[in-house]
Amino acid sequence: MHLKTLTLRGFKSFASATTLNFEPGVTCVVGPNGSGKSNVVDALAWVMGEQGAKSLRGGKMEDVIFAGTSGRPPLGRAEVALTIDNTDGALPIEYTEVTISRTLFRNGGSEYAINGQGCRLLDIQDLLSDSGLGREMHVIVGQGQLDAVLRATPEERRGFIEEAAGVLKHRKRKEKALRK
Ligand code: ATP
Ligand code: MG
Repeated sequence: MHLKTLTLRGFKSFASATTLNFEPGVTCVVGPNGSGKSNVVDALAWVMGEQGAKSLRGGKMEDVIFAGTSGRPPLGRAEVALTIDNTDGALPIEYTEVTISRTLFRNGGSEYAINGQGCRLLDIQDLLSDSGLGREMHVIVGQGQLDAVLRATPEERRGFIEEAAGVLKHRKRKEKALRK
C-alpha cells in the first residue's frame, strides 16, 4: 500500500486545486518557511479523519478553509482527496485504488466519501484502522515532536516506541491487572 496522490482545494494556503503525486519510497517536500509544507501534512491527517483543530495547528476546524489573502477572497469550503494504491489489499475493500475525500463548508457542514460514494467519518476510520494509517495511529511526527523524542528520557523514549508498535495499551492493561 502506498499513497499515490493528494489533492487540496481551498485547504489552508492551497486556494487553487493542487495535486501532489507520490511515488513508492521516500518523498521530500521542500520549500521556504511559510510556503505550506506543514499544511500538506495537515491535509493528510485531516483527510484521514483528524478531528482536533489543535492537531491541525488551528483554533477551530473552520481554520482549515482558505481564509483569503490581500489579492484573493476567502473560500467557502476546503476539500482534500487522498488516493491510496491498494493493489496489495492492505485496505479491506475490493478496490485496487481507493480515494477518500473530505469536504468542510464554512457553515459547518461536512462530507466524506470513499471512491466518490458519500459515507460517514466512521466508515473512513474503519477502513484505515487496521492499515497503520489513520487518526489513532501516531504515524505523523510533527515539527517539534522530533525534538521531544530526542530530548526524552530513556523511559519516555521507550513509551514512544511502545505506542508506535501498538503494545502500550497491552502493557497498561497488564499493569492494571497486576495491581489488583
Ligand atoms: P516552515 O518551514 O516555517 O515550517 P511551512 O512550509 O511548514 O513553513 P506552513 O505552516 O505549512 O509552512 O504554512 C503556513 C502558511 O499557511 C502561512 O502563511 C499561513 O498564513 C498559511 N495559512 C494557514 N492557514 C491558512 C488559511 N486557512 N488560509 C490561508 N492561508 C493559511
Ligand atoms: Mg512547517
